[in-house]
Amino acid sequence: MAELRWNPLLRDWTMVAAHRQNRPDMPKDFCPFCPGSGKVPQDYDVFKYDNDFPVLSPNPPEPDDVGSAFYKTRKAHGKCEVILYSPEHNASLCELPVEHLKKLVDLWTERFVELSRDEEIKYIFIFENRGKEVGVTMPHPHGQIYGYPYIPLKLKVELNSARSYFEENQQCLFCKIVEEEEEMEVRVILDNEDFIVYLPFFTDYPYGVYISAKRHMSNFTQFTEGEKINFAKILKETTGTFDTLFHKKFPYMMGIYQNPVNSPEYGNVQDYYHFHVKFYPPLRAENSIKYNASSETGAWAAANPRSLEETAVELREAYKRFKEKDL
Ligand SMILES: [Zn+2]
Ligand SMILES: [Zn+2]
Repeated sequence: MAELRWNPLLRDWTMVAAHRQNRPDMPKDFCPFCPGSGKVPQDYDVFKYDNDFPVLSPNPPEPDDVGSAFYKTRKAHGKCEVILYSPEHNASLCELPVEHLKKLVDLWTERFVELSRDEEIKYIFIFENRGKEVGVTMPHPHGQIYGYPYIPLKLKVELNSARSYFEENQQCLFCKIVEEEEEMEVRVILDNEDFIVYLPFFTDYPYGVYISAKRHMSNFTQFTEGEKINFAKILKETTGTFDTLFHKKFPYMMGIYQNPVNSPEYGNVQDYYHFHVKFYPPLRAENSIKYNASSETGAWAAANPRSLEETAVELREAYKRFKEKDL
């Protein structure tokens, strides 16, 4: 079964999918994403693979008969895709050449366009989980895409803030954040012509950098070819900085944020929603994890155990070391 259940307390949907429990245990050395597995082409650079056990699917089953007039259910319409970054089982984003990463950016763009053609899909979220600290056992480099049939609550909150700020100030909230960080400088880690990496003043993750487009744009389809190359470069440098920081594969959750699609209630959204990437690395120091415990989970009271002005210094130094190595 797979269905959406309405949470009347949060006014948001919960995706329920019991078949995910029955995922087969694969033999230890079997990787479905490696060429030769029979699951992927023999020869690929980057590849879109439809999730074998999707929570959201284009032809979802009817919800189980467990709801009521009060407890609403809804079909789990949407799409879950796996995006393979490379045929190399042990490669990392930061080790792949920029020309290769450009192909990944092209694939993300293609998927955004393709998924937005399904009018029931309202938000396309591109993301990556990396490392056993965030529950990933499969080292093969990959990310995922979820096409949700609704705008999830957190995204709605951010969209509404961006819309209000725009109405009050006639300026994009994300452009304003970049402006402020550029001016203050202390939390900026690196940049290039088109993108900037910084630890935003307010983030609750000690190493939770954002990558923002310097120009106001809302999604991949608005990128020039040059911007795609510079985005590939900044992704490589950001993840390379992370891996250099503690001389080990750095765990993270990463989300790519673009405007919602097929959502007339956010009519002129491209005026005020701005393309960016957020990282949520679970580490607070080399060997300690930042757990989201009762206060964070139960009250959404965010807490950062480190000074961002200090972790910014660590990240800038790691970036320098990465650049020396990369030359
Ligand atoms: Zn593999
Ligand atoms: Zn903007």
